[in-house]
Amino acid sequence: RSSLSPLRKINTVINSYAIARQKEIETLQKNAEFRREFIADISHELKTPIFATQGYIHTLLDGAIDDKQVRMKFLKRAAKSLDSLDVLVKDLLTLNQMESGVIKFNFTDFDLKDLIQEVIDQLEHKASKRDVVIKLEFDPEKSHITHADRQKIYRVCQNLIFNAVKYNHDGGEVKVTLKSQKNTIQVDIKDNGQGIPPEDLKRIFERFYRVEKSRSKERGGTGLGLAIVKHILEGHKSKISVSSTVGKGSIFSFSLPLEKEKKPIEKTPVFEN
Ligand code: ADP
Repeated sequence: RSSLSPLRKINTVINSYAIARQKEIETLQKNAEFRREFIADISHELKTPIFATQGYIHTLLDGAIDDKQVRMKFLKRAAKSLDSLDVLVKDLLTLNQMESGVIKFNFTDFDLKDLIQEVIDQLEHKASKRDVVIKLEFDPEKSHITHADRQKIYRVCQNLIFNAVKYNHDGGEVKVTLKSQKNTIQVDIKDNGQGIPPEDLKRIFERFYRVEKSRSKERGGTGLGLAIVKHILEGHKSKISVSSTVGKGSIFSFSLPLEKEKKPIEKTPVFEN
């Protein structure tokens, strides 16, 4: 039998209802704040390429179009600004789909070392422009078959290896190491570039966070790459970790499950008389 009087019981119910309502209001306020900040960030990021394209086109219309050399230079720059706008919008859509949980993961078995080799082949051209060498190390005796979303893991490796090239110095080195352990494959992406200061390290996975805004933009960065990496790995119940020393370089690491090689089913011998 409860010792509380009916009035106190009603009071307790009202109090817990008020607390629940208060929490709901706080969540709604936080969501509204997040949305406001997100829109402010996006508008700010979109302004740069739009403003640049506008500038080139207006200069052409004001007469620069008559000079063939200037015309080509300005058209190329306008095209480059539009390309970066395209990348930014695509990245924003991907991130938005991930954050709202609508993106689907398509898990299959594949060889992680082959995927990384494909990414390296794709980035080789950009790396060689700056004399950056990309190396891949793995134990050829071991299996590197994983179970994951191949397309999304391609994106993760592409973002991380491209960053290791972008934020490296000319003539630098990027080393990608694959380590097959008992149940996991660990991927380490190590560069000997500029490194990341400790106070920035915990913030680089936030959308639009850049250590050096000007340098990142000049290198074609949207500031969304690592936020996308983090979300994709979360969808694989994995995490990205980073350690870095300013002036020496950084190592980004993540793990994926090692898919056990399936043993062939032994056939029962059939004896015939
Ligand atoms: P961005 O598109 O600007 O490269 P990311 O989200 O990929 O954006 O990275 C966020 C920031 O983290 C970058 O702007 C850069 O300042 C820093 N960063 C990422 N990778 C590296 C790296 N390998 N070395 C040094 N800084 C890095």
